[in-house]
Amino acid sequence: MIVLILLLLAITAADEYVSYKDYKVYHVKPSTKEHLRVLKSLKNNTNIDFWTPLYNTSIEPVNIMAAPKFQDQFVKILEQQNISYEITVDDVEEVIIEERKELYNAPPRQSGHITFDRYYNYSEIQAYLYELADKKPNLVSLEDYGRSYEKRKLTLVHIPPENDERKPVIFIDAGMHAREWISPAQVLYIIYMLVQEPNNEWIQNIDFIIIPLINPDGYEYTHTTDRMWRKTRSKGKRCYGVDPNRNFDYQWSGLGSEPYECGNVYAGKRPFSEPETLYLSKVIMRYSKRIKLYLSFHSAAACFLYPWSHIPALPKNHRELYGVASKAAMAILNATGTKYTVGTSYNVLGPAAGSSSDWVYAVARVKLAYVVELPEGHDNIFVIFPEDILGVVKETCEGIKVFFKYIKRKYVSEKTKEPIVFGNSIKYASSTTKQVPQNIFVILFNVILWKTQPRTNPIISMVSVRDL
Ligand SMILES: [Zn+2]
Repeated sequence: MIVLILLLLAITAADEYVSYKDYKVYHVKPSTKEHLRVLKSLKNNTNIDFWTPLYNTSIEPVNIMAAPKFQDQFVKILEQQNISYEITVDDVEEVIIEERKELYNAPPRQSGHITFDRYYNYSEIQAYLYELADKKPNLVSLEDYGRSYEKRKLTLVHIPPENDERKPVIFIDAGMHAREWISPAQVLYIIYMLVQEPNNEWIQNIDFIIIPLINPDGYEYTHTTDRMWRKTRSKGKRCYGVDPNRNFDYQWSGLGSEPYECGNVYAGKRPFSEPETLYLSKVIMRYSKRIKLYLSFHSAAACFLYPWSHIPALPKNHRELYGVASKAAMAILNATGTKYTVGTSYNVLGPAAGSSSDWVYAVARVKLAYVVELPEGHDNIFVIFPEDILGVVKETCEGIKVFFKYIKRKYVSEKTKEPIVFGNSIKYASSTTKQVPQNIFVILFNVILWKTQPRTNPIISMVSVRDL
């Protein structure tokens, strides 16, 4: 405890520690469209922070953190509108201190190993990745693909190390929003899962490119100074940081982003103003022809979301996008009972123009591009406590394996285990080469997928009709 106090004091002195003393969290239960409208009108209020995103059309409970100076007014608004609520966290700072205590009391990480009972800071994650590449050079290689605004190395993981031009690529990233600590933990667990079995079927057939921490400056800042920081750390005129998930060069600065640099969803001065998003876009473009699946991990809304983020319209292959994700959601539901919602970003959570998944889909032309929103912690708390990390990351992998299986089935020949040659036609990797229009297989598979959906799918029932 003394060590913790000393550390907190040191942090306070060095970086002007941001305290959330007396900030409260309200579990708010809207029950009408008018309630939704009222809550939406508070979205850009800087005294309010939505811990769980507000659903766009579906009326779901939402957790909102309110600053002490706004609490009376906030409660008045809720009561005037007859919106029911309960206070679930009386003092957010106490939750943060509790979480930090667990971090500082955890035993130090052993070289080459990682555990999922604590969160690691940037240098610990980097050290683990370098040790892993040294220890398992036949499975893992690293690439520093750029530098962050504060000059931290941006590192990606290749599994396996060889770059086989014939194999499909699955591209995974995490840590775009600094405070969503469970997302880098999730991706580190996926790396751990892939390297545990040296001859596993995934690595044989698929090249994985994985970035555990897209926004290391913001992530580090949440560890040292402000636990609830979301953006990058670039210096503006009045405020710091840009929302990296509004900074991509597709429909940039549209609905769901802000032009004000102090806002939490600030789109930036221009598209790709942030080195973190610019370097990420370059890596994605380098592999774009081979990337068949893009998964970007966030929290805490328990959703699989796909384009579009800027308009309510559905993308061309929405049936495929919906079909695969709803199977993944079913796998998680069957494993642990956790419910995931499936649908387009706009229709489920509302507009978010300039997001990475829209850019990956529209510009890099990756036809399966998703945001995976991991769930929140117990008691409607945004923070997932260290003792719950392992349960969450394992549970999510039940769904992630469904995506991996789909990519293997669609892009790798079952008969020969040889990757299919890409292009406008499919070539069987056997002695007889047949030209088959790719669409036939896609259509057939989707028909099977659609027919096998249970009629009373609880996940489907949560999604707006437009998504179907
Ligand atoms: Zn996020």
